[in-house]
Amino acid sequence: MLKQICIQGFKSFADRTCIDIFKAFTVIIGPNGSGKSNIADAVSWVLGEQRYSLLRSSRAEEIIFAGSNERKKMGMCEVSVTFDNSTHFFPLEYSEIMLTRRLFRSGESSFFINKMSIERYS
Ligand code: ATP
Repeated sequence: MLKQICIQGFKSFADRTCIDIFKAFTVIIGPNGSGKSNIADAVSWVLGEQRYSLLRSSRAEEIIFAGSNERKKMGMCEVSVTFDNSTHFFPLEYSEIMLTRRLFRSGESSFFINKMSIERYS
């Protein structure tokens, strides 16, 4: 049911990066330190992980892109996962559901479903 993962400003992913998940999708490969585990961390985080130690960070701010020789650090990170909901597994009218989690360096953080704040759903 998972169709796409999009990551921006999260750990080593400064540029917005989207990964399409196909039916035959099995593995993510890359050299040591290239960011494979950061993708797994991003998925745990967007699904609500609160324990930053499990994301291999000591505090929330550390998951935001910290800058490099070429790029300034970023002020915000955002991860989205998109699910096929044509069977309405999630009890919402939409046939596709995009869950987004966003965090600013200020500590302000929010969740969105199909770009609408989850507060609108409660
Ligand atoms: P391995 O195969 O060795 O386990 P990996 O491909 O899983 O490596 P990751 O652990 O996902 O790699 O990524 C590590 C990289 O992410 C390191 O280069 C680290 O500097 C970078 N990184 C982690 N947090 C941040 C951050 N907040 N800002 C910028 N880069 C970060």
